[in-house]
Amino acid sequence: MILIRDATIVGDRIIEGDILIEDGRIREIGKDISEKADETIDAKGKIAIPGLVNTHTHVAMTLFRGYGEDLPLHEWLQNKIWPAEAKMTAEDIRVGSLLAYVEMIKSGITCFNEMYIAGINEMKEAAEEVGMRGVISLGLFDLVPGHSYEGEIKGMKESIFKPSELVRPAVSCHAPYTCSKELIAEAGKFAKEKKLKFHMHVSETRKEMLDVLKAHGKYPFEYLDELGVVHEDSIFAHASWVTKREIALVGKRKATISNNPESNLKLATGGICPVREYIDAGANLTLGTDGAASNNSLSIFETMKLMGLLQKHRYWKADILPTGKIFESATINGAKALGFDAGVLREGKLADITLLKRDVNLVPEHDIIANLIYAAEPQNVNDIIINGKLIMRNREMLTVDEEKIKKDAEKTAKDLVSR
Ligand SMILES: [Zn+2]
Repeated sequence: MILIRDATIVGDRIIEGDILIEDGRIREIGKDISEKADETIDAKGKIAIPGLVNTHTHVAMTLFRGYGEDLPLHEWLQNKIWPAEAKMTAEDIRVGSLLAYVEMIKSGITCFNEMYIAGINEMKEAAEEVGMRGVISLGLFDLVPGHSYEGEIKGMKESIFKPSELVRPAVSCHAPYTCSKELIAEAGKFAKEKKLKFHMHVSETRKEMLDVLKAHGKYPFEYLDELGVVHEDSIFAHASWVTKREIALVGKRKATISNNPESNLKLATGGICPVREYIDAGANLTLGTDGAASNNSLSIFETMKLMGLLQKHRYWKADILPTGKIFESATINGAKALGFDAGVLREGKLADITLLKRDVNLVPEHDIIANLIYAAEPQNVNDIIINGKLIMRNREMLTVDEEKIKKDAEKTAKDLVSR
């Protein structure tokens, strides 16, 4: 049992009070809770928010942070990232994942949605070692040399591990331009049968959107809908180059969009995801960082700010996306997309909690939510609780050796690109 005492709690309402945690869940929120806890955290002057949720990432890509800079997406993938990834071992993936999990925790993130080319067990074990919640999947693609439909289906089936309290498997297809029609349909069917989430990159660039139109006579979401994968258990990353008809379709199907503004800007993909239009159409809007190679950090604080700024800029409308909607995208909508009963500080919910300290950048407090979106930074994150367990205290990791993780990652990253 953990008692967080005297925090400013950003829950259904914003109150000053205590949070009592028992058996992984929030048992009580209120003033002067008298229960005797095993551990009491004095949170006077601190802000308690739900742990942030990152709905699209490639954790091991932390090893490529700063590698292959200043290149457009397709050139960057083909000439830099894919050749280096081809040399990656499962151990490299474990090292890169540990680095990403610690970085995310130090940025206030408690839950993530992962897609990668290999190393499923290593990513899962590393998440459990750190104590982080997440969904992990193998990104399938059969239209790339060295990969086949049969091989990908076999890999997909083998990648489905036994879920734990913290980590669950999912099914991912890399993108419509790297996967055959048959593979997308079969993977989607398998995910439905096994009641797993389906995750995919869609319409990240204009070229990709036009290529799908040329090859299949339909815009990407119409094509994917015909293959049966656009539904409320699907998470689509980017989805920036879309028609109004596709937005209406995604909304009607109640699918999830993972907006990754920082990666899109950095890879110069041009289109700004029409976030407000998706929300109005009924889609579940969430936020992702993408991999650290195209970001180059894993911060949902930066992502929230960029989401708001880009929407204002795109529509020439300052009130296009209220701060409350952005905060929901980074918390409860993300938890809902991944199927976890978290993302909000409410009695009975999973205890995934981020405690922030009020540094100079959060003073004064005219509007606490506006401060969280437009002023807060990872450095404000002081403590992290995931599944009712204290993972970081006063910015010190309690579950893993951060210095060793940093040292291993530096060595592995340098070795990987010179192999
Ligand atoms: Zn991605």
